Amino acid sequence: MNARRAGIILNMAKNVKKLTLANKLAKRGAVITPTEIISRQNRADNVRDIEDLVGAAGSSNSIYFSPIRTRKQRQLNGESLKMESLKKEPLSPTRVPPKKNKKEDHTVTKIQVGSATIVKCKVVQEAADSPIRIDKIKKELEPQIKQELNIQESLEGLKSIKTELVTKFDPNLYPEVQAPHPLWYNHLENIRIMRNSKTAPVDTMGCHRCADSKADAKTQRFQNLVALMLSSQTKDQTTFEAMNRLKDRTLTPLKLKEMPVTELENLLHPVSFYKNKAKYLKQTVEILMEKYDSDIPDNIKELVALPGVGPKMAHICMAVAWNKITGIGVDVHVHRLSNRLGWVPKPTKEPEQTRIALEKWLPFSLWSEVNHLFVGFGQTICTPVKPNCGECLNKDICPSANVEIKPKKKRDR
Ligand code: SF4
Repeated sequence: MNARRAGIILNMAKNVKKLTLANKLAKRGAVITPTEIISRQNRADNVRDIEDLVGAAGSSNSIYFSPIRTRKQRQLNGESLKMESLKKEPLSPTRVPPKKNKKEDHTVTKIQVGSATIVKCKVVQEAADSPIRIDKIKKELEPQIKQELNIQESLEGLKSIKTELVTKFDPNLYPEVQAPHPLWYNHLENIRIMRNSKTAPVDTMGCHRCADSKADAKTQRFQNLVALMLSSQTKDQTTFEAMNRLKDRTLTPLKLKEMPVTELENLLHPVSFYKNKAKYLKQTVEILMEKYDSDIPDNIKELVALPGVGPKMAHICMAVAWNKITGIGVDVHVHRLSNRLGWVPKPTKEPEQTRIALEKWLPFSLWSEVNHLFVGFGQTICTPVKPNCGECLNKDICPSANVEIKPKKKRDR
């Protein structure tokens, strides 16, 4: 309170008996009400000064609630009434000026999510009204907003993958299956994921890719059979190239029958056992032309009766050429993986033993899929020698993970 203001209040207090002035006082200080003044007057208090109204410190009748002591109290205590000492004292609660609302500005909140930072910003109206300010804010926040959007997109993607996997991992999907390994379906799902992320030679050069798509259906079936006969213990790329050489000479039963055997051998080389395979092909085309009108048999029994055609070839041929599932095509990859993953009750020595063991428990709906899945997986990750267990999703649930494997003499395709 400055000296001038103190003087004014003192003068006003001298005339405090006037009700209008009391009203003004009450408004100013918000601590004295006219009714209180009147009640004091009624009690015949001697109200001559503002000090008479505030009363003494500690008095129960005090109507003044400020923690600041009054002038009278100060004088009684012998304290200085100089302005300097008054200024140092805190203002009473009723006189503390209300805090002015600071102007809101755009505020930026950063939230850490893993290694990324999500930025949330609030832009006030004033800022929003200014195009220059908007441009500035946009420039500042653009990279952070982009980052946030990318994170959100990634999270959405992960969410959908998770949902998809949860749906696929439904334990009630095959409730009746008595599999040798309880986590067989997890193995399968992981192999599906790995196969989707990596292309294998079988995907682009497998037997199902060897036939001439422009040839008629009968010729295509014949070419499927020839490719399968050549593929035994031969890499897909070698088979694919040999098939291309044969197709350049028009690969039909008649053309093959007319072709000299040495020429056929030359075309087949370096397919493994190319001389034997050339001989089997020559015998097979004779049978096909004679018994099947240059087509191929449509059942397993007659297919395996052809020279050089085994059960594995026959089952795959039925699936590829006739689109009929008659059994699991167990080649060296399916045989090896089934043993490594514990999909057979006890280790098997021959692919045919593995096929019989698998067909006892593996759901029929998976028979056609398992060959293609396992062959590609065996070509890329679970290779015959030194499988890449480190990058395999099954490494924690595979009985053969990181087991040292001795190389075999037989060549895998
Ligand atoms: S963990 Fe190793 S052995 Fe087992 S499936 Fe994977 S790559 Fe093959």
